[in-house]
Amino acid sequence: MICHWFPEPTFLFYTPDLPGLLFYAHIPAMIIACFVGFYVFFNARYLLLNRLLFAIAMCFALWVFINLLAWTNIHSDVILFSWTFFGVLQALISVLSIYFIYVFTTQQDISLHIKSILSLLLLPVLLLASTNFNVGGFNLDSCDAFDYEGVLFLTYYSFLGLIAMIWIAVLLYNHWRQQTTKTRNQTLILGVGIELFLFSFFGMVYLGSMAAIADFYDSSQIEFYGLFGMTFFMVVIAVLIVRYKTFNVGAQAAEVLVIGLLILIASQYTYANSTPTTVFLTTLTLILSAIAGIFLLRSVYKEIEQRSEVQLLSDNLQRANKRLRSLDKMKSEFVSIASHQLRSPLTSIRGYASMLSEGAFGKLPQKAQEAINRIADSSTTMTSSIEDYLNVSRIEAGNMKYELSEFKLAEEALHIVDDKRSEAIKKGLLLLFKSKLVSSGVVQADLGKTRQILHNLINNALKYTPKGTITVLLREDIDTRIIYVDITDTGIGIKADELEQVFGKFQRAKNANAVNVTGTGLGLFVAHKMAKQMGGDITVTSGGDGLGSTFVLSLPMQT
Ligand code: ADP
Repeated sequence: MICHWFPEPTFLFYTPDLPGLLFYAHIPAMIIACFVGFYVFFNARYLLLNRLLFAIAMCFALWVFINLLAWTNIHSDVILFSWTFFGVLQALISVLSIYFIYVFTTQQDISLHIKSILSLLLLPVLLLASTNFNVGGFNLDSCDAFDYEGVLFLTYYSFLGLIAMIWIAVLLYNHWRQQTTKTRNQTLILGVGIELFLFSFFGMVYLGSMAAIADFYDSSQIEFYGLFGMTFFMVVIAVLIVRYKTFNVGAQAAEVLVIGLLILIASQYTYANSTPTTVFLTTLTLILSAIAGIFLLRSVYKEIEQRSEVQLLSDNLQRANKRLRSLDKMKSEFVSIASHQLRSPLTSIRGYASMLSEGAFGKLPQKAQEAINRIADSSTTMTSSIEDYLNVSRIEAGNMKYELSEFKLAEEALHIVDDKRSEAIKKGLLLLFKSKLVSSGVVQADLGKTRQILHNLINNALKYTPKGTITVLLREDIDTRIIYVDITDTGIGIKADELEQVFGKFQRAKNANAVNVTGTGLGLFVAHKMAKQMGGDITVTSGGDGLGSTFVLSLPMQT
């Protein structure tokens, strides 16, 4: 049936006899809901939160669309058909809103238990939507079905809106209580937005329908005001997107959102009836949204500015880092080249010095002999310093090569002790070698490097012990399969606070200089790094100043 006394709408909805507020309230609300819904959905559709917001916005947009259809259409069948869906969509909006807030507060999907409760609440509406409980007839005089609307059905689905409001308030309040002050604002803003939306939408629609049923025809326009709640809710969502990144939308994309919203609101000047009320309302909304937009964009720009500052700093840092790395490389190369260049002339100096001192060029006078011995000693010290520099530059360039093999650690230690014995006797020191090994004491390590480490540790013990005993002891831990060499001396010792630093590069303890022993502070640095690389370690203990020290080299047993 057709309501002949009403004009057929042009452009689907437009009829001049209807209040301008109808278009003003419906069309922007629908477009804005679609805009924000799609926007959030397509920016991160993999997030459940975004999908739920999209579903709420779509249900709302559809509700608005069929409501507009019911207002403007003059075909009773079309109007009645669309009437069937009001309750369904409203009920869906209320359960989806609860679902949405659950996901917002817990960051995860809801349990099957809650899903069942929500479905049960929805069920009566779904079952009764197409029956007389919903709408039972049509009034051709007024071209609507208000008179035949089932009050019980209407009350039930409006009541769902109330349930949603209470449920959401409880959820958000509990969440808010557990949050820190910093993150609370987000919850508060969303809470106000969604509660106002539900209140205005459900409340006004219910009031409007009841007023129409009670025959206050004009009062049905109350529901127009209810729709503004959605626009407000969408602005709230925009705030959450821009300020709190709730929906994982980037800052620049938010700019598009704000400008899009403003254009949408402004665009209704072109289609809304130019009554003073609509012009006033459009202008008011536009001004309010523009103010909110300016604040939002300012925070976006601030963020972009901060980001570009951070970017600049990080670029500078990267450049400085690159330069440092190349300088470091140059330094290592320089040390390596210089050391190599020094090594060969030194070798010939040492060679000639020993030939001279052994009388290869005839017997030398006593004074010349002493001088030549000094030359030999100094060039030996220099060779070992150069060797240290070369090792450091190899370690730092990552060029140190390790060739693991199996050998008896005790044998190597004994060789070095024997080598050093004459030096110890010269200094009046007792150099002892002991072994508590039960196993064959075979370790897996680089032989050359292990000799170098042992040489360094025993040499240090001799250097830093003016009188007393040096003991080299081998022991093992069968359970952890580690062999230890303890080099204990009765020398100058190391203060507790200097114990760790002796393994550092160029680090020497204060008393080392006091006893007038020359050194570079590199030997232990190199030895420690080497031991670590071979799966072992070097540790040190000391009774303190003047109370001797013990260096312990540990290496893994053969596998
Ligand atoms: P250096 O060339 O100075 O001997 P090392 O790296 O071999 O360099 O040793 C670093 C520092 O550790 C030494 O300067 C010294 O202060 C301390 N040190 C090493 N061995 C001993 C030891 N047996 N007794 C006391 N101090 C030691």
